Amino acid sequence: PDTKLPQVGTTIFTRMSAFAQAHQAINLSQGFPDFDGPQALLSRVDHYIRQGANQYAPMSGVPGLRTAIAAKVERCYGRMVDAETEVTVTSGATEALFAAISAVVRPGDEVLVFDPAYDSYDPAITLNGGKAVHIPLQPPAFEIDWEQVRQAISPNTRMIILNTPHNPTGQTLAAADMQELSDLVAGTDILLLADEVYEHIVFDGAEHQSINRYPALAERSFVVSSFGKTYHTTGWKIGYCVAPAPLTAELRKIHQYLTFSTSTPMQLALADYLNDDPQHDQALPAFYQAKRDRFNAGMEKSRFQFTPAAGTYFQVMDYSAISELPDTEFVLWLIEQAGVAAIPLSVFYQQPPEMRLVRFCFAKSETTLDQAAERLCRI
Ligand code: PMP
Ligand code: GLN
Repeated sequence: PDTKLPQVGTTIFTRMSAFAQAHQAINLSQGFPDFDGPQALLSRVDHYIRQGANQYAPMSGVPGLRTAIAAKVERCYGRMVDAETEVTVTSGATEALFAAISAVVRPGDEVLVFDPAYDSYDPAITLNGGKAVHIPLQPPAFEIDWEQVRQAISPNTRMIILNTPHNPTGQTLAAADMQELSDLVAGTDILLLADEVYEHIVFDGAEHQSINRYPALAERSFVVSSFGKTYHTTGWKIGYCVAPAPLTAELRKIHQYLTFSTSTPMQLALADYLNDDPQHDQALPAFYQAKRDRFNAGMEKSRFQFTPAAGTYFQVMDYSAISELPDTEFVLWLIEQAGVAAIPLSVFYQQPPEMRLVRFCFAKSETTLDQAAERLCRI
């Protein structure tokens, strides 16, 4: 049939999770925790369902949750945002990303995307008639070459998509990157879309470089995050977008016809929990760093090579000492030989460079991480 997305099949996350399940492998592929969010948060959902909070939420999000998000943005990044006109609650970050892109990208517009790129950006750009201009980041550091970005900019550049901490590499942007970015966009009308879903998962004492810290950048940005990552509730699909009022107004035009609104009892529960336990997000770096370190310690004796992730709950590892297979074949071999599922990195590139890298998710219990590392040390 005539297809609008000829390059798109079923996502790598769905495929690898299904394959892991079929082989009863330990699933370190698709990124999701194998543990629950805070009990106090879960029981609030139960409370609100029983109270009858089961009808449509307001289109832009439950007011209490938008207020709590605004308070959090101020507490974490020192930026004052108006909960009424600058915060929108969405069905996961995925919806916020799609709505932001749809709100501003017109046919012929170019959008700069850094590869390896999270897989939902490109289809959203294409469906809106835009053109994704891919800038490949080179392993092992995956640093942005800002001169290369400068050269990729054209009169048609409408938007740049950033993702820090970065999925799938686990890298983070530094203050120097934000300076380069500021210099680059100053005096242009280029918009920014910042995917910051792992904003609270940064390691080794580093500070998350949120766009929200930089007023000159924030005034041209959609900043997207997800409660799925922060509260170990990826299945709830509650995310949000912070953007200046004129951009938010455009985003909401799309949001109201994509989904209109998102789950009421979960929004109410999150609002309570954000107010009752504002420290939760500050405990996340240590929580996930311990998991990263545990998994990596278990992998010391393996033939995989790696540098510890700077953020996210993903660890990239080089398998070139083990196999010469391309990564998409290596992950299938790994499931069969070791009983552990991973994600190949090349699928996140338009034109993958020469590399042998896979991504493991360490948002897992200690037992799971130990078992996985033990299996991976045997191959
Ligand atoms: N962006 C990135 C970089 C992600 O890793 C994810 C989740 N895997 C999302 C967006 C989507 O978040 P959500 O599940 O809230 O839609
Ligand atoms: N973001 C998750 C990951 O990177 C997966 C989300 C999905 O399955 N679409 O693994």
